[in-house]
Amino acid sequence: MDLMEYQAKELFAKHGVTTTLGTVVETAEDARKAAEEIGGVTVIKAQVKAGGRGKAGGVKLAKTPDEAFEHATNILNLTIKDLPVNRVLVTPATPPVEEYYFSFLLDRSNRQYLCIASVEGGVEIEEVAKTNPDAVKKIAIDPGKGVDAAKAREIATEAGFPEAVFEQAVTMIEKLYTVFVEEDATLVEVNPLARLADDKLEALDGKVSLDENASEVRHPEHEAFEIKEEADPLEAKAKEFGLNYVKLDGQVGICGNGAGLVMSTLDVVAYAGENHGGVKPANFLDIGGGANAQVMANSLDVILNDEQVKSVFVNVFGGITACDEVANGIKGALEILGDKATKPIVVRLDGNNVELGRQILTDLNHPLVTQVDTMDGAADKAAELANA
Ligand code: GDP
Ligand code: MN
Repeated sequence: MDLMEYQAKELFAKHGVTTTLGTVVETAEDARKAAEEIGGVTVIKAQVKAGGRGKAGGVKLAKTPDEAFEHATNILNLTIKDLPVNRVLVTPATPPVEEYYFSFLLDRSNRQYLCIASVEGGVEIEEVAKTNPDAVKKIAIDPGKGVDAAKAREIATEAGFPEAVFEQAVTMIEKLYTVFVEEDATLVEVNPLARLADDKLEALDGKVSLDENASEVRHPEHEAFEIKEEADPLEAKAKEFGLNYVKLDGQVGICGNGAGLVMSTLDVVAYAGENHGGVKPANFLDIGGGANAQVMANSLDVILNDEQVKSVFVNVFGGITACDEVANGIKGALEILGDKATKPIVVRLDGNNVELGRQILTDLNHPLVTQVDTMDGAADKAAELANA
């Protein structure tokens, strides 16, 4: 789960990282009031889950409450990288003298954590990485050892933090690591990490991605970060059903058992689509074990409600959940959905109890269901139907 800046800053504050929380508001009038209460110059910042807000006109300085109102009005009308701005953060303006970049992230390919730091931070960090890669330091972190004071010092030295703020940087690095590990984050990024006029370091912006696998048991409090009205409605529905669903932008709805099988199904469908007008997978959906009628109905319900979906490919390799259970699941799902099921469904069953499973669907003889016995053949059929 990606957090908004104001939410990231809440986590920063919780772990003692110097930052300014400010006030989150949803109307320009409330932005005026917040600016009045804060007093002096304020910054009005678009709250969307995208970078580059500054460049898109989503970060503005306001000298007076009236100006705060004006900027908030404009920013609340913006769309940044296709995301509508529904709220702005109003904070006291703390003008940076220098801007640094700092992050901790999960480095999956090397099975460790990675710290990226640069004293040439600010909005152009991607540009710096391209034109002056030496200025962006990458420091590997052994997750077993973590970041203690000595490691933080090593990072601060490597990054080249100036002497005047060096000790503060060391402390902040340790604390940001605490945010990263204790909150089960996969990314903690501060850009800019600002050096203010009095040589104080402050996190002026924050990006945090939380590992949702840790939410339910280890961090039930993270649920409060979810902004329901901004979630994709299909993803929200899938979540309610407890399904592993990710919306993509193609036309072939996909449902299978096991993440590995579903991922290879996406590949096979994308490949087959090349012969059928370039149709692509519409989603990832792993029904997991226990594919009973209700789970199947829930899955098909989510997939069929995607307006972009033109056909559905159900790809199941029977294991502990045998093919006959899955076939009965599909049969039951079609009964539950009734008229709501309107798109062709291609089913490929293999594995445990395959003969029985196929027989159940043959006997069902449903006008929307086509059985194909191989994965490649079924992918081709599903792509063909999506392109019809
Ligand atoms: P981003 O463009 O989405 O990364 O948004 P940022 O929050 O990083 O803001 C972009 C730029 O606005 C920063 O690099 C700063 O120069 C400036 N900025 C951000 N927050 C503040 C603030 O509190 N005070 C002042 N004076 N400038 C800020
Ligand atoms: Mn930023």
